[in-house]
Amino acid sequence: MEPTFALYDQNAYQDCFSAKVLSCVQDTDNEHFHVILDQTCFFPEQGGQSADTGRISDDVNVLDVQIKNGIIDHLTDNPLEVGSVVSGKIDFTRRFDFMQHHTGEHIFSGLVYKKYGFHNVGFHLSDRTVSMDYNGFLSMDQVRAIEWEANQVIWKNLPVEISWPDKEELDQISYRSKKEINGKLRLVTIPGVDVCACCAPHVKRTGEIGQLMVVSASRYKGGTRLHILCGGRALKAARQDSDFLSEASQLLSCSKENLAPQIKAMMDRENELVRMMEESKAAELKKLVDGVPLEKKNVILSAGHINEKTASEAADRLSQLHRGVCGVLFADSMKQRVVLVSRMIPLRAVAQALRQSTGFKGGGDDGCIRGMIDLDAEQLEKWLDQYTA
Ligand SMILES: [Zn+2]
Repeated sequence: MEPTFALYDQNAYQDCFSAKVLSCVQDTDNEHFHVILDQTCFFPEQGGQSADTGRISDDVNVLDVQIKNGIIDHLTDNPLEVGSVVSGKIDFTRRFDFMQHHTGEHIFSGLVYKKYGFHNVGFHLSDRTVSMDYNGFLSMDQVRAIEWEANQVIWKNLPVEISWPDKEELDQISYRSKKEINGKLRLVTIPGVDVCACCAPHVKRTGEIGQLMVVSASRYKGGTRLHILCGGRALKAARQDSDFLSEASQLLSCSKENLAPQIKAMMDRENELVRMMEESKAAELKKLVDGVPLEKKNVILSAGHINEKTASEAADRLSQLHRGVCGVLFADSMKQRVVLVSRMIPLRAVAQALRQSTGFKGGGDDGCIRGMIDLDAEQLEKWLDQYTA
């Protein structure tokens, strides 16, 4: 079979086309179909970019598009008659969003290459995320500087030129290339900014990108991974962030600029309150520990909401005063937990017996065990009295 004629190669803005159905084969899942046409506007998944979606005829949805040896395979939810002439339409709103992001990536990567010599070694463009990986580390200041410069390129509304230079012309041009490309090379040139070999659809002029915003930058495989947003996606994200900030600043009765110091002050206050509460609970628990009659062998106290450290300290103090198994039941978020300590009775065996007869979940060593238990203090103490009798 001849390679499919890729209409998007010539005109990224063409969203409707007619084509002849060359083949239609049911998928092994018995639900979908593989349709091959003589020509198509549907850009297949390649170079990290998701495939176009859309329709062929009125009732056939294109769910995925793949390319193999130049033949473009449309995955559809309904069959098409082989030999018939059909009309296709891509989801152009989505395609244009992809064109904006893809061209934005060229500008950013071209500037990174020019300034730092780093290559774009990974690109991902889908409905949910747009990421670029560079094989060198970019600091946040460097990322912000490139981001600003990229937006200036956008606002200059430079042309994005597509060309198919022959071998001799190509030898005179220096260009970025993500991988070896067979056949004639398609060059995408943004004058003075970037020259890159690429087969995807791009906008005609940089101004159509609208804006480019870097939303995150992190170290990745010895280099840098960036997530960007362009055009409408950037505006939507900025609008959402701004709304969140407005809501938060209303709740805290402060300006957006003062949100961070205000939240920090609240966290400090909360930490201080938690510390004071813990101190007073520890003092209360110590009173309980000291109030237990010394002749008692096994002692379990119930302490409510305290942290594990306070519970462990109390259990340890009990074990110095009583010769059996001592412990504290305490609540950690929603679950009731227990810490048991003993100086005389090996606790590993106790843990095993508890697991078997009470559904205790946990373990430890012979000196101390911890875990989750459903018994209350009285029930656990009774169980221990029987166990150690
Ligand atoms: Zn491209």
